[in-house]
Amino acid sequence: MEDKILKSSIERFKRTPMPKQPPEVRIHNFNEVALGFTPEQAINEAKRCLQCPEPKCIGGCPVEIDIPSFIKQVAEGDFEAAIKTIRKTDSLPAITGRVCPQEVQCEGVCVLAKRNAPIAIGALERFVADYELSKGGSKVIEVAEKTGRKVAVVGSGPAGLTVAGDLAKLGHEVTIFEALHAPGGVLAYGIPEFRLPKSILNTEVNYVKQLGAEIKLDVVIGRTLTIEELFEIGFNAVFIGTGAGSPKFLNIPGEELNGVYSANEFLTRCNLMKAYKFGEYDTPIKVGENVTVVGAGNTAMDSARTALRLGAASVTIVYRRTEAEMPARAEEIENAKEEGVKLQLLTNPIKLLGENGWVKRMECIKMQLGEADESGRRRPVPIPNSNFYFDTDQVIIAIGRYPNPIIAQTTKGLEVTKDGLIITDELGRTSRKGIWAGGDIVTGEATVISAMGAGKKAAKDIHKYLMKL
Ligand SMILES: Cc1cc2nc3c(=O)[nH]c(=O)nc-3n(C[C@H](O)[C@H](O)[C@H](O)COP(=O)(O)OP(=O)(O)OC[C@H]3O[C@@H](n4cnc5c(N)ncnc54)[C@H](O)[C@@H]3O)c2cc1C
Repeated sequence: MEDKILKSSIERFKRTPMPKQPPEVRIHNFNEVALGFTPEQAINEAKRCLQCPEPKCIGGCPVEIDIPSFIKQVAEGDFEAAIKTIRKTDSLPAITGRVCPQEVQCEGVCVLAKRNAPIAIGALERFVADYELSKGGSKVIEVAEKTGRKVAVVGSGPAGLTVAGDLAKLGHEVTIFEALHAPGGVLAYGIPEFRLPKSILNTEVNYVKQLGAEIKLDVVIGRTLTIEELFEIGFNAVFIGTGAGSPKFLNIPGEELNGVYSANEFLTRCNLMKAYKFGEYDTPIKVGENVTVVGAGNTAMDSARTALRLGAASVTIVYRRTEAEMPARAEEIENAKEEGVKLQLLTNPIKLLGENGWVKRMECIKMQLGEADESGRRRPVPIPNSNFYFDTDQVIIAIGRYPNPIIAQTTKGLEVTKDGLIITDELGRTSRKGIWAGGDIVTGEATVISAMGAGKKAAKDIHKYLMKL
């Protein structure tokens, strides 16, 4: 009977909603917003999959997870098999299941997306990864015999963790060097607990350690040790996965006022340095009454929702384009709106005004959309004499990030673009023999899964190189 219902077109076109904490509850805590599927919900959702003979979803995934196979295994209730299928190509499934922009990747090309109800691939991936965690974590710890080759990985974000895991599995001696006091890159210092619990991140980091990779924290490569010194002390190859962690600013008058933060500083203080537990941790942060966040990507959504949880009375996102162009994950825009974050669209800040050194007001100009620019999105054009003001006592700038230049400045012969991004070929090889790079340091700000995809490609090529030495 149940199968009959599921086979009917009505159920096929109805996506199983993800249970969430109610907005009025979750704005007072940092616990995860999305609660995950129950086994019954997961099986029912998986049964909606058409098992297309020529599935498009695999091509929509930057690490090409065999999506139809793992979904079929979930539909059959074989969760063990499903996680094995995912882990063949995705080493951080509990993370990617939570943070990938599925609507523009695997789910975006799902045949059912045409009926507005693609299979909830991300939620199913998260379900099987959480199932594995509930059973004690990954048991796939088969490591090849030691090769005697040594690899240094600079940066412990998703790119670095992927390279390290893949090369450790192949028997190489891997050391990750991380500048901060905690591993994970943006997953640790940027994405808040209510989207990606640190316990999930730590389990995935521990998995990479169990494979044999060592992590040395508080080591800034380019300062504590240079890349040249890594080779001198015996590393045979180096992977640079240092991300893009330096904030961009608007460069408008008043940005130096107190109460103006870069999103990086705001989120790092809150997430990694536990400012929200001031007293227990020595890292205070001022939280305004009326907080304004400039930008509309994931970083802006995370900043806005963190400010709400820290007690702001009102939080407004100021963005130059319309909601249709907002680059954040659709789910997080929806969550932010449900939580009461206001959107001030087609608006550009041009000046910040203060009193006694603290920001108090923002001067903005209204925008309209013009012709498409090189990004394919319609360009925002200022409307003359449309200036207006509003009160704000905290401004968080979330308009993008630059790569940190330390490594490029201290490594001879490493070619970079004019913006400081490291130039590589499609395998991640840089202009220096023995040095690979991948993730945001090569592409500029992108996604967790694209950083992992780059890590996987580089790991394969590094392995070939090491085995010929
Ligand atoms: C707030 C925020 C939210 C985001 N949300 C999402 C999301 O929901 N979904 C999504 O797919 N993407 C999201 N992104 C983007 C995504 O997190 C990045 O694309 C991804 O983390 C890039 O991975 P990476 O490994 O290249 O670099 P990173 O994650 O930036 O990691 C780089 C690491 O290198 C370390 N490092 C830097 N320089 C040195 C040095 N000289 N020596 C040693 N270590 C160094 C850094 O401390 C850092 O730990 C978000 C980004 C931000 C900022």
